[in-house]
Amino acid sequence: MLFQELDLIEPILKALQTEGYTQPTPIQEQSIPSILQGKDLLGCAQTGTGKTAAFAIPMLQLLSKPHQNTKVHKAIKALILTPTRELAIQIEESFKAYGKNLPLRHLVIFGGVGQKAQTDALHRGVDILVATPGRLLDLMNQGFINLRDVEIFVLDEADRMLDMGFIHDVKKVIAKLPAIRQTLFFSATMPKEIQTLADTILKNPVKVEVTPVSSTAEKIQQQIFFVSKNDKKDLLLHILKDRTIETALVFARTKHGSDRIVKDLIKAGIKAEAIHGNKSQNARQRALTNFKAKTTRILVATDIAARGIDVDELAHVINYELPNIPETYVHRIGRTGRAGLSGTALSFCDGEEKEFLDDIEKLIGLKVPVTEDHPYAMSWQSLMAGAAEAKAKGKSKPSRGARPQRTEKQPNLSGAKKTPGSGGGGGRKWHNKSRQRPASS
Ligand code: AMP
Repeated sequence: MLFQELDLIEPILKALQTEGYTQPTPIQEQSIPSILQGKDLLGCAQTGTGKTAAFAIPMLQLLSKPHQNTKVHKAIKALILTPTRELAIQIEESFKAYGKNLPLRHLVIFGGVGQKAQTDALHRGVDILVATPGRLLDLMNQGFINLRDVEIFVLDEADRMLDMGFIHDVKKVIAKLPAIRQTLFFSATMPKEIQTLADTILKNPVKVEVTPVSSTAEKIQQQIFFVSKNDKKDLLLHILKDRTIETALVFARTKHGSDRIVKDLIKAGIKAEAIHGNKSQNARQRALTNFKAKTTRILVATDIAARGIDVDELAHVINYELPNIPETYVHRIGRTGRAGLSGTALSFCDGEEKEFLDDIEKLIGLKVPVTEDHPYAMSWQSLMAGAAEAKAKGKSKPSRGARPQRTEKQPNLSGAKKTPGSGGGGGRKWHNKSRQRPASS
């Protein structure tokens, strides 16, 4: 199918052409016609499927129709609520790209930065508002934003809103929306609480489901490197001698760990930057921009900071440490191999992480091929001995509570006020919810 067959208006088709898009992705093919008909939609899809364009394109078309009521000239006609600043920025960039030939005004707002520029833009008038929940509520409470004229509401990454403790804020926002509206609801997984929320806010939704989490892994070339913890640094440097690896996103478990990897890489003459919750919004955005422009070869990220990072043509993901939550592995490697491009995911696994690898392979339903041809290869015997030792110490046991991946505290990415239970203890909540299997797998 081609975009021309989706009844899209010329200014949008032209913009898509500029973007180099010719064929809609499956979620776009399924969603665009229904959204154009004004239907509610429940989309079970994660980033990397083209879901942003799946809602942005038809929304732009609907909103570009003449709006008779001049009183609502300055009113916000569409609201997109998304959990992180990075996602919010990327969504607004999508509206900008696909809507470049339309006279619609869009704005992105998020916390952690001054509000003046945002309130000034609101004052001038905004048709499409992309927001994180905390800053949105904040500006609503200050009287800068009124949602009474919203015609289309998008809730993006609903399950992550839940994971990050934003669900109460989301519900507060929903309560201020007009009852008559079109609602588009996206979530990668459908835990019970999210399903209930979807049932409450959607009216006869069209259901669209693409690439369940366990199958995204299939199109990405994956390799495991068994290596001791101490040799990981040298293995990374060894792998990066391969100049065909133009850029790579390296996943570390902790903020401290990512800083250390960056230090090691810089020492070896490799341009690297880290993004994690301790970095300022500006520093993170700068690192991301440098990485996208390929002036920084290696971006080291923790899972939370990397959420929603959208880098076109990212060919390599390296798991310096394996995550203890198997779905996280799929989300990580899903950063590569997007929109039909090929991708490679290399994972380092030491004895302690062998158990995590077993869980991952169970989830994705395949054995990840092991690369033995490297100078730091760990023998199977040493690996299993390490695994047994970790087990004996209870190190890799999920029930011990102190699971390594949770060392990074939940950053308050949207600037939202923490609700009881979502602060320091948020880690537990995050962890529990994250382990829920997607309804589709
Ligand atoms: P998303 O799932 O919205 O994060 O999109 C993933 C990536 O796919 C983004 O980098 C988009 O720019 C790209 N993309 C979305 N739709 C298409 C398309 N129809 N053709 C080519 N690339 C696309």
